[in-house]
Amino acid sequence: MSIQVIIEKCTGCTLCVKACPFDAIRMTDWPEGRGSASDRPQGHGLASCGQSHSRSHKKAFIDLNKCTLCGACKDVCKFKAILLEKTPAECALPDIKDYKGIWVFIEQKNGRVQSVSYELLGKAHELAKKLNCQVSGVLIGDKLEDQLDELIFCGADNIYLVQAPELANFQDEPYTNILVQLVKKYKPEILLCGATNIGRSLISRVAINIKAGLTADCTGLDIDPDKKILLQTRPAFGGNIMATIISPNYRPQMATVRHKVFTPLPADKKRKGKIIRESFDSSLYVSRTKLLDIIEEIESTVNLSEADIIVSGGRGMAGQENFKLLEDLAHVLGAAVGSSRAAVDSGWMPYSHQVGQTGRTVAPKIYIACGISGQIQHLVGMQSSKIIIAINKDPEAPIFKVSTYGIVGDLFQVVPALAQAFKTALRK
Ligand code: FAD
Repeated sequence: MSIQVIIEKCTGCTLCVKACPFDAIRMTDWPEGRGSASDRPQGHGLASCGQSHSRSHKKAFIDLNKCTLCGACKDVCKFKAILLEKTPAECALPDIKDYKGIWVFIEQKNGRVQSVSYELLGKAHELAKKLNCQVSGVLIGDKLEDQLDELIFCGADNIYLVQAPELANFQDEPYTNILVQLVKKYKPEILLCGATNIGRSLISRVAINIKAGLTADCTGLDIDPDKKILLQTRPAFGGNIMATIISPNYRPQMATVRHKVFTPLPADKKRKGKIIRESFDSSLYVSRTKLLDIIEEIESTVNLSEADIIVSGGRGMAGQENFKLLEDLAHVLGAAVGSSRAAVDSGWMPYSHQVGQTGRTVAPKIYIACGISGQIQHLVGMQSSKIIIAINKDPEAPIFKVSTYGIVGDLFQVVPALAQAFKTALRK
């Protein structure tokens, strides 16, 4: 694939500069009276072409070190001055009709399947009904036999199991190699993975390897009823809109989803499934990095992601000292204290307590939002909570649109009153 600016046609309008998402195009003076392509500004990776021109002009030059050949500049150029050439092989779309079924990468740490995998199996099960297909888990590690039944009870119809002592712990290269081989062999239509440290590292490598699209950090997944393709929804443009992204031409359609966005299915002990054992040549298990040790992070704060009840405060708390009110209520309820980004940015709460798009995703049984307006970036981190109680003095606050119970009032009166009432009620 190659790209060129045809200097004779370029008018210097800068539309391509504005359209380039990668900042790869700049305007450069094209000196008057010089007529050959060799006269153009030189430099490694700059793409332009042309023979003659009569006036001094600024012309577009593409920095090939930054250009990804996405074609956005070509599409926007009204003068057909950008030439993007693909070989016939590059133009051909892959044959996608053989791809069937939904796969979930089952993440395990220290030999234990992580809860995000059960959440994804639950969602995959729901999507599979719309596609009339099966759900399969891919489990890589060692000595994992004792967890296969639970995965089947929670939504998997098949488990592709790859076990070897050298695969006991996640490592990028071997896990990528294995998943790529399995995808090539079995051709799943959709591949889901947790947006965890392991998931993010693994799945981007797999996507590059098999040349498939990947949508990271989805907050919603569905199936287009007509086209039967995966609708992948996630916040975009700094969280200002929710974008639904599709991958119509390549397979599998790949998405990562954060912990706690979806809910696992209740285990159905009657479900039956198939275990498909796979093994590969040991050369596939070789890694250029060596795992020396695993050091568990010591949580210095309450683990928000695991808390059943969260009492969260926002800008309406009006100061760090007032979070004491929330701590008192949290103490009575056995809850964790969360916060909006506004409270974190104001220095009232540490970042580890932030809930939302750039903080944690939580789904407790009860989420109590105090003085939080309910901007979309906050909502994407907590809207899966079972019960949402909002306390806000503004009856028009958007948080009331997602709340199960709303209390319109001054939090400085409502929160202590609630703490007192719960203390009395729980003592009985
Ligand atoms: P505000 O929007 O200022 O709301 C304060 C609320 O308190 C108001 O509704 C007001 O009526 C109420 N109030 C005031 N006084 C009282 C009182 N005495 N009693 C009762 N109610 C009262 N935000 C997050 O929370 N998490 C994120 O992860 C996050 N990520 C972001 C990522 C990006 C890229 C961007 C652009 C923004 C992000 N934000 C995030 C910020 C988000 O857009 C909002 O600015 C933020 O959530 C607002 O916080 P807030 O609701 O506490 O404050």
